Amino acid sequence: MRKKLTLFQSIILILALGIVFTAGLLFARASILSQAESNVVFLTNAYTTGFNGDLTVLSVREDNVRETVIAKDGTVLWDSKESASEMENHAGREEVIAALNDSPKTVIRSSATMGVEQLYYAEKKTIDGTVYVIRVSYMTSGLTQFLTGYLPWMIVVTIVALACSITASVLLSSRALEPLKKIERNLSDVAVGRVPSPIKNEDKDIQAIADNINEVSSSLVETMSQLKEESSTLQLVLDSGTDAIVAINKDGDIVFSNKKFNSFFPSGNKYLPEEIKKTFVEKPERITLNDTPYLVRVSENDKLSLLVLTDITSQVNGEQERQEFFDASSHELKTPLTAIKGFNELIGLKSEDPLIKTYSAKVEKETDWMLSVLTDMLRISKLESEEADPNLPLLNLAMVADEIFKELQPLADSRSVTLKSEGEMEEPISHTDAYSLIKNLVENGILYNIKGGYVKVKMEENTLSVEDDGQGIPEKDQARIFERFYRVDKSRSRENGGTGLGLSIVKHISLKYKAKVFLTSRLGYGSTFTIVFPIHNPSEEKKSS
Ligand code: ADP
Repeated sequence: MRKKLTLFQSIILILALGIVFTAGLLFARASILSQAESNVVFLTNAYTTGFNGDLTVLSVREDNVRETVIAKDGTVLWDSKESASEMENHAGREEVIAALNDSPKTVIRSSATMGVEQLYYAEKKTIDGTVYVIRVSYMTSGLTQFLTGYLPWMIVVTIVALACSITASVLLSSRALEPLKKIERNLSDVAVGRVPSPIKNEDKDIQAIADNINEVSSSLVETMSQLKEESSTLQLVLDSGTDAIVAINKDGDIVFSNKKFNSFFPSGNKYLPEEIKKTFVEKPERITLNDTPYLVRVSENDKLSLLVLTDITSQVNGEQERQEFFDASSHELKTPLTAIKGFNELIGLKSEDPLIKTYSAKVEKETDWMLSVLTDMLRISKLESEEADPNLPLLNLAMVADEIFKELQPLADSRSVTLKSEGEMEEPISHTDAYSLIKNLVENGILYNIKGGYVKVKMEENTLSVEDDGQGIPEKDQARIFERFYRVDKSRSRENGGTGLGLSIVKHISLKYKAKVFLTSRLGYGSTFTIVFPIHNPSEEKKSS
């Protein structure tokens, strides 16, 4: 900035001095010429007056004035510097013509004979009928003298003036730029979070601006230190948790990561590892990193995506233990329960006592219920450890629904519920699983319906839904009804012979086939359970079968 300003000022100064210098030279030349002109006119007058036609009295002189006497026809009759006979005819000379025309004038030109710039003036004089032209030429050596005498001084003066002006300009511009420099220092202090020393200036206007900058700077520094403090508190909080947290911007660059996340990738956290990048896009429910299972949560806004990984090792271990316990106890209970059922049937058959017959019937109902609970428990346990066979052929689900309708028609009739079906679809699913899935949903639709209601199975592309216009499910229970043994109304479920495991079986079959389950329900209006199967590629299936 300062350099530019100085350069600009120097150029202006040089131009100004150049103009003054040239104008001075032109002026000097003009005044010297005018002086010379009056000299030459004066001398010509003097010579003309003194001339009497006698050429012999004229004398040759050594100075810068030259007289020439010229005849009317231009013949040089006499010259004070040269031999007249050797000189050319002067009839065409401008000053000679002017003199003969009685309108003498000064003429300036380079002398053909002398080769220097000369001033000429001529006057006509008639003596005894003979016309003479008396011409005086005057060497303008004054100008050359002036130039050789004064030019070096002028140059020296110009250089000194220029040097003084440039020095003054540098001093002035650095003084003018001082407040800007102070502002720059102040702002660089702010940028690194240092409290800047306030800007002070003698100029009132500049001080007013400086006061504003001082105020803004100190509040900026304060805000920055507050932000720093908040950010380090936040970092401490997030570092002390057990979750691994990382936030990325829209370009995929890490903008934040906590200690736990960094510990996965000790090479530094500048670049996001591929497996984590994938997690942001695919959003799986769980991932395994370094043999540890993590629950995945991804949240996004228009600038950032946040990934939180929660270590679920103990949960997974607990799940596994519970599952093993669930499985073992079901097996352990099923054998004695089957025996109890058998003996109870015998007691009922053998006894004639009506009271014993009544008790035996009650025991049978309870053992039947317990056995169906155990069967459902074992079914869930099996489903949890099963994976779908990738080579299963496509199954017509509309046909499966027909079979189920036939089986459940008596139950539907007893409750005055109509069974309807609409559309068709095919899925690569085993008959047992499809049957169990649709039956559980249709059976619930009948059992939790009202008199005159309907249950409709709809199939379209890869979506199967079971809709009823029954009692509906309260909103607070909707998220939990897929949990084992969760029932909205326990007594009604028992009355219906429900185990509380039907929807859990539905969930596990869906999980096995990577299908998604959705529920929409409104209390008093009915419920719709929707199962969306993954889109299967028929050409792929043909290849594998
Ligand atoms: P249950 O053996 O009790 O029927 P489920 O797991 O099949 O067990 O269902 C869990 C609970 O969800 C039921 O007890 C019932 O309260 C509620 N429920 C299931 N299906 C329906 C439905 N179609 N309409 C109303 N409530 C339902």
